[in-house]
Amino acid sequence: MPIVNRVAAMHDDIKAWRRDLHAHPELLFDVHRTAWTVAEKLKAFGCDEVVTGIGRTGVVGVIQGSKAAPAAGASRKVVGLRADMDALPIEEASDLPYKSTVPGKMHACGHDGHSAMLLGAARYLAETRNFAGTAVVIFQPAEEGGGGGRAMVQEGLMERFRIDEVYGMHNYPGLAVGQFAIRPGPQMAAADRITIEIEGKGGHAARPHVSVDTVLVGAQMVNQIQSIVARNVDPLAAAVVSICTFQAGSTDNVIPQTALLRGTARSLTPQVRDLLERRIAEVVEGTARLYGAKAKLTYKRDYPVTRNHETQTAFAAAVAAEVVGRERVDTDVPPVMGAEDFSFMLEARPGAFIFVGNGDSAGLHHPAYDFNDEAIPIGTSYWVRLVETALAA
Ligand SMILES: [Zn+2]
Ligand SMILES: [Zn+2]
Repeated sequence: MPIVNRVAAMHDDIKAWRRDLHAHPELLFDVHRTAWTVAEKLKAFGCDEVVTGIGRTGVVGVIQGSKAAPAAGASRKVVGLRADMDALPIEEASDLPYKSTVPGKMHACGHDGHSAMLLGAARYLAETRNFAGTAVVIFQPAEEGGGGGRAMVQEGLMERFRIDEVYGMHNYPGLAVGQFAIRPGPQMAAADRITIEIEGKGGHAARPHVSVDTVLVGAQMVNQIQSIVARNVDPLAAAVVSICTFQAGSTDNVIPQTALLRGTARSLTPQVRDLLERRIAEVVEGTARLYGAKAKLTYKRDYPVTRNHETQTAFAAAVAAEVVGRERVDTDVPPVMGAEDFSFMLEARPGAFIFVGNGDSAGLHHPAYDFNDEAIPIGTSYWVRLVETALAA
């Protein structure tokens, strides 16, 4: 496996950074210690520019290659590499020596590993500068539902650093360490938020005929909404609707006046996304009317589809193959219905998002999950080879 030698030599350092981040998890945009740690390291590595506070707590490092551009007068290409920094509101269930020191928070999605690997790549690239052009390392906050990637793009990340292409990476439990997986087109889903507020007529549990029972109305809605995926979406397309919150009532002899449902709608194409939004609205309105209740649906389009661009995907797969061998890169991984706000960066610039094997670990967002430090040389080598290849003289 041609792991870059210098990267292999940095393994212990990167592992130590990763474990330090793991022990100090922070949520959403409140990643102040993490962002500070990242920025201080980027400065120490000798990045040409380190900018903080983009997308509130995002950090960007700029590293200029020392080689001349391929053609005299040609503009220098700029490649962006992105990692995420935030953790999750989960109580860590492990006895690791570097276990979370913060009650109720943990790095259960491996963003500690992503940030550490990109720091390792930044250190190598700033040391060697064996490329023509500019590498921009992007550390974003609030991937877990806060839209930190969107915030950075909205604040002009791409224009300010003149980024031409952008690449992302996520660890993947169940995929062996030393393997990569990617696909062109939709790789992860669009994720929209559903909130349904139902208003009926509360009353005595023994007198339902003079009430409008919001528990019954809500239960019917949960059922009817499932018919959308079963009976409206093309069976060969992908869709998920999960109602995950049902709040109503507080005792056993009162029909509650109101009920609240919340959930998520996932899709891989604009057509299915439109269909879900339209049909959920129809089902909510129709069901409420059927029972004489009122219902207010708030359908919030959140993260878009993570759509890999064809040329950059082929390029990313070729770089991964150079690191681990062609037979260890799955270039046709099935899409997953999880969502990623790297999608906002892929809407702004061409690029690709790749999965790197995390081995036989607990799943993402599980209290016993841990990023696999054996993946560090692989992910870091991928980053540095990607820059040296994309920006070869
Ligand atoms: Zn996550
Ligand atoms: Zn994640």
